[in-house]
This record gives sequence, structure tokens and C-alpha cells, in this order.
Amino acid sequence: MHRIIVWLRNDLRVHDNSALNWAINKGIKGTTKQIIPVYTFDPRFMRNKVEKYGIYKCGLTRARFLQESVQNLRANLQDLGSQLLVTQELPEVFLPKLILKGQQNSIVFSQEVCYEEARIEQSVATEIKRNSKVHIERVWGSTIHHIDDLQMDPENVASSVYTKFRQNTERDIVRDCLPTSKLGQLPFIEGDVPKAIQDAMRFAPSLMDLGFSEEEANTPKDPRSSLEFVGGEDAGLERVKYYLWETKMIQKYKDTRNALMGADFSSKLSPWMACGNLSPRYVYWETKKFEQRFKENDSTRHFISELFWRDFCHWYAYCHGNGIFYEYGPLDKKGVPQWRVDQSVIQRWRQGLTGMPLVDALMREMNQSGFMSNRGRQIVASYFSLDLKQDWRYGAHHFEEKLIDHDVHSNYASWNMIAGIGPGKTNLFNVVKQSYDFDADGEFIRTWVPELRNVPTDYIHEPWKMPFKLQQQCETVLGTNYPNPIPSRYTTKPSHQSGGSGLGYVKDY
Ligand SMILES: Cc1cc2nc3c(=O)[nH]c(=O)nc-3n(C[C@H](O)[C@H](O)[C@H](O)COP(=O)(O)OP(=O)(O)OC[C@H]3O[C@@H](n4cnc5c(N)ncnc54)[C@H](O)[C@@H]3O)c2cc1C
Repeated sequence: MHRIIVWLRNDLRVHDNSALNWAINKGIKGTTKQIIPVYTFDPRFMRNKVEKYGIYKCGLTRARFLQESVQNLRANLQDLGSQLLVTQELPEVFLPKLILKGQQNSIVFSQEVCYEEARIEQSVATEIKRNSKVHIERVWGSTIHHIDDLQMDPENVASSVYTKFRQNTERDIVRDCLPTSKLGQLPFIEGDVPKAIQDAMRFAPSLMDLGFSEEEANTPKDPRSSLEFVGGEDAGLERVKYYLWETKMIQKYKDTRNALMGADFSSKLSPWMACGNLSPRYVYWETKKFEQRFKENDSTRHFISELFWRDFCHWYAYCHGNGIFYEYGPLDKKGVPQWRVDQSVIQRWRQGLTGMPLVDALMREMNQSGFMSNRGRQIVASYFSLDLKQDWRYGAHHFEEKLIDHDVHSNYASWNMIAGIGPGKTNLFNVVKQSYDFDADGEFIRTWVPELRNVPTDYIHEPWKMPFKLQQQCETVLGTNYPNPIPSRYTTKPSHQSGGSGLGYVKDY
């Protein structure tokens, strides 16, 4: 008997899945094979509080999305004649229990590159090998390029800026997607199934099991969310079909991608890619197919370029290891602000109570819905680190808790770049200018900051300029039902003026 345990992590799908494919293709002549897929809701990544930064590792919207993803994976595996074991035990505790004594055993999983994930892999390997001889296979599946196909040493591939990274990797091949598993290719245990395995075959933790209160668990999804994000491979594949093939929105991507509001200004594929409901290689090849069928244009090219940004962040994390979490980044960059840690400022930013309407609207959108546009993320991160000069890690950790698409590589790499501690120069965003440019009529602000709904459009971007009488008339009295702004260059100088901080930013956006 050969038992292969497939430990599924951020690859919750049956299409283009390297770990499942390895299990299917691995065979020892003359032995019967069992393939046991497993997912662990690792408590370290769930409602675990990071005291230093005052956040939980996983917020409500992502926990819910993950729950839906696992449910869908279970159903898809069942359609293939398999079963998914689910547990809340630590993987290094649960997985060794599945080893079949006196038989051949293998465990296969998709390799992760960041510190916490890699350390857990190590613990799993140590615990598994403690009592038995088990083959451990690490496979690659989270980027468009396979690690073995990069011409450059992956350690160096992301040590430069993005444009150089693209030049360096442009000629590297992108492998075809692996075939989707077929019925009968994932033989499960035949006959009597031990009780512990039967329990895990049925286990589906509720949000309360995952550490949320009853009130949180019963909170409905926010109807103002730009999209109703439903976790799972089926919903992810559906969204690709919709965005590319049915609406062809991808053909306008370059013109629409910087908007703040609406379902279709960008693909919204990130949550499904973050937990691996969608393979990035699948999205890449679907886009290439689309280009062949309907013509390549600036927008399709730009979309592919953004997919490679995701890869770049991944290689950046791979290349710099723990450095991406350091106060002054992996390059120990000089010349950035000396970070401050003012808890009252940090909390106001986190809660969307800074008194800067656009920032508050964006933060509340993320807190409530789990999503924020790319432009929005740039604005609030720039404001937090470069205007308020707060330690960027307090911002990045808040994103980690709240984002439905949180991906450790994209999040921390992006914060590195915005805070000016990554390679190259950063852009300093002018919040007020961005507000006029991207929310001219204030619709986005009014959606998420109802206290400002009656404020005339002339003042919606800078309510601190409103005469007191008008504040009373429109029921937005600053300091009473909407905060005075945190003092910053916007409130002490003419608002359209450049930041002029002398730190060598590329431009004042
Ligand atoms: C401070 C900050 C934090 C971020 N944190 C995350 C995160 O935790 N997870 C995450 O997936 N993205 C993160 N991003 C990148 C980007 O904002 C999101 O990927 C994008 O907004 C998701 O929306 P979309 O799927 O509609 O993207 P689209 O614009 O439709 O792009 C298609 C895909 O390309 C990738 N992509 C696009 N832009 C970027 C980018 N700038 N960097 C990396 N990949 C990109 C994503 O996978 C995205 O789904 C962050 C950006 C910033 C500035």
C-alpha cells in the first residue's frame, strides 16, 4: 500500500494543482495507492492576535471566504471520488497521525516562501520523520513561472525594480496548466475508514469554531461591497469567464483599472488567487487565449503586466526572506522618515476616522467588505507612511487582518515600495488631489462615510474648509459628528501643493 497525503495550503483547487498532480502521477509498481487530501485551518493563521501590532491574523471576511473555499474544494473533490479531510489541529500534529504504519507513505505540498509558512513546513517535516520513513515532496504552484524555469537565479530575480524583473523574465517559458484531475484518479481509502478520518471527512468549522463571536458570525456581508465575493474555485472560474469572455471588460482594463468604485473596473480576481482557488498560470493562459481570439491590445498587455506584478512580489519575498518585514526593509534604506508609533493616529487611520474623507471612505470599505481598489491601497498606504510618517508595519498588519485577498508577498512587498523602503523611488500621493481626480462627485465618499452625505460636492474633499454655518445646515459639524482632520500638509498648506518633503520621491501624484 502506498498512501499519499496531499496537504493543501494556498492551492485550494482541483485545476492546475501541482500537489494533486504529483500524487496522481506517483506510483509504485505493484502497490495499491491511496490519496488523502487534507486542509488544516491552522489556528496560527486564524483568530490569533499579534499583540505588537494589535491585529488578528485573519479577519471576518477572509475567514468566511476561506470557509466557502474549503467547502467548494470538498465538493469538487467528492465529484472526483475523493474526500477532503479538514481539521483545526496544527498540521505538524494532524498530518503525522495519517501515516500508515508498515506501508509506503508520501506527503506532498506546495512550497511557500515566507518565514512563518516555511517554518511550519519544517515542523511538519521534522514531526513526520520523527517516527517513520516518509517521502516528503515540495512542489511549486503559486506563480506564473515555475521556479525551475527562471533563467536568472531566483535569489536575484527580484532584487531589482519591476521593469528590470520583467526584462529578465520575459523570455522564460510559462508552462502549460496541469490537467484537471479526473474521476478515478484520486483513489481514497477503500473499505473501513478509521473513526478519526471519518470525523475529519465531515468536519466543517463554523465561524465560531474559528474564533469569531456569535455577533461577528451573524454579521451579513456588506451590500455596499464592490462585488459579492464568494469563496471557492467554482466562483473564481466563473469570474474569469465573466470578466474575460462574457463581458470582455479586460479590453478596457487600462482605462478603468484606477477607479475606486464598481464591480468591473478591475478583474477582482485577487481573493481567488490569494487562497489558490485560481491558479495564476490559468489566468495568464486564459488571457493569452483571449488575445489570440480577440486581439491583443494595451489593456490585455497591461493586465498581464499586473499579473506579473504579483509574481514580482512573490520573488521579492523569496529573495529577501524576513527582510520584507523589517522596519527599514530588506535594504535597510536610509532617507525615509523616522517612523513614529502614535497609537491614536494609527487607530484613527484604521477605523476610517482621520478626517480626510477619501482615506476614511477607503479604510471603511476595506474594514467592512474586505476589498479596496489598487489605487485606494496606494493612497491610504502613502498617507499613512509618508504623510503621517507612522511605522508602515502597523498599516501592513491591519491590511493583513482585513483584506479578503491578503497575500503575504503582495501585501508586504507593496507596503515596502509605497513606504519607500523597497528598490527604486516611491510615489508620494496627494490625497486631496486623488480625491478630486478619482471621486469627482464624491459618490464613493458618500457611500462609505454617511456622515458626509449632505455635504455639498464643493466641500466633500476638504470639509475642514466648510464655513461653520454650512456645517450646521448639512448636519456635519466637524469635531462633533465627523472628526477634524489629523494635522498634515493638506490642512496647513494649500491642498494641491506638492508634499515637497525633499526625500526624492518620483512625483506628487
Ligand atoms: C499597499 C498595498 C497592499 C496590497 N496588498 C495586496 C494583497 O494582500 N493581496 C493582493 O493580491 N494584492 C495586493 N495588492 C495589489 C493590488 O492592489 C491588488 O492585487 C488588486 O487591487 C486586486 O484587485 P483586482 O484583482 O481587481 O486586480 P486587477 O487590477 O484586475 O489585476 C489582476 C491581478 O493582478 C495582480 N495585481 C494587480 N496589481 C497588483 C499589484 N500592484 N501588486 C501585485 N499584484 C497585483 C492581482 O493578482 C490581481 O488580481 C496590494 C497593493 C498595495 C498598494
